[in-house]
Amino acid sequence: MQLVEKAPAKINLTLDVIGKRPDGYHEVEMVMTTVDLADRIHLTLRNDRAITVEVDKGFVPGNEQNLAYQAAKLLQDRYAVNSGVHIYIEKNIPVSAGLAGGSTDAAATFRGLNRLWNLDASIDELAEYGAEIGSDVPFCVYGGTAIARGRGEKLEHIPSPPPCWVVLVKPPMGASTKDIYGKLDLKNLKHPDTGAVVDAIRERNFPAICAGLGNAMEDATFGLYPEVKSLKERVKSFGADGVLMSGSGPTVYALLQNESRAERIYNGLKGFVEQVFMVRLLGSGHRHDR
Ligand code: ATP
Repeated sequence: MQLVEKAPAKINLTLDVIGKRPDGYHEVEMVMTTVDLADRIHLTLRNDRAITVEVDKGFVPGNEQNLAYQAAKLLQDRYAVNSGVHIYIEKNIPVSAGLAGGSTDAAATFRGLNRLWNLDASIDELAEYGAEIGSDVPFCVYGGTAIARGRGEKLEHIPSPPPCWVVLVKPPMGASTKDIYGKLDLKNLKHPDTGAVVDAIRERNFPAICAGLGNAMEDATFGLYPEVKSLKERVKSFGADGVLMSGSGPTVYALLQNESRAERIYNGLKGFVEQVFMVRLLGSGHRHDR
């Protein structure tokens, strides 16, 4: 028996860091939404209890370090499942990019194995297990659009923004989220106005969404990788409606409602960066609620 589960990337429309918590994590507030750039997780039932992982690109671990493996192991242990699974990951999302690639693979593994192993877990239960694997996993279990607080695991679902194009550009370096948190200057962060962006989304006011995009981690990433800052300036100069770095970077994205302008930006960037994608936002209809 085999099934395939789609694992979409997320972008941050806002990312705010509120402070550092006694447990060492940072308290965040962010608006995240899923985009139609996705890995595909192929799950094949095994008769023994082994969990094996294979990835179609070399730079992602095909072992117990893989977040999809960890998701499968957690479910197998919790539900005392007697079979195993072979997980084949078709990796399309750039790695260490600020797009939650690993987290969404774990989330899709939870959803897929819930069916393949007939576990009958609710989506809320899967999201709770997800928090044990990583802060962004609960959001990825549901998808759609949400405000995430706490470490990122406390979710408030909201409607999705109006349809638009997203041009994503991932410069050749990877950004380590840990290093970038280490560089954050908590006293001098540029805090986005999360409430204004959420209001703009509810009002389906695309220009106000674009005007409100903000990421408190940009300056720290720009400090480590000045190329990311120049890239953002360049994308802006191409005439995007809104431009922001996603997560801790280094991916920068542009939002546009006009398809031919999005194509122009895509083609302009394609000339000098290898990983450029032009996709659509995934709307509210793509949220998993069961
Ligand atoms: P975030 O936006 O949540 O910070 P990211 O997009 O920056 O995530 P990922 O692509 O999730 O970063 O990968 C970060 C690390 O996780 C990499 O070092 C990679 O080796 C490891 N990893 C484990 N499992 C996976 C997976 N299934 N896909 C990608 N990376 C994985």
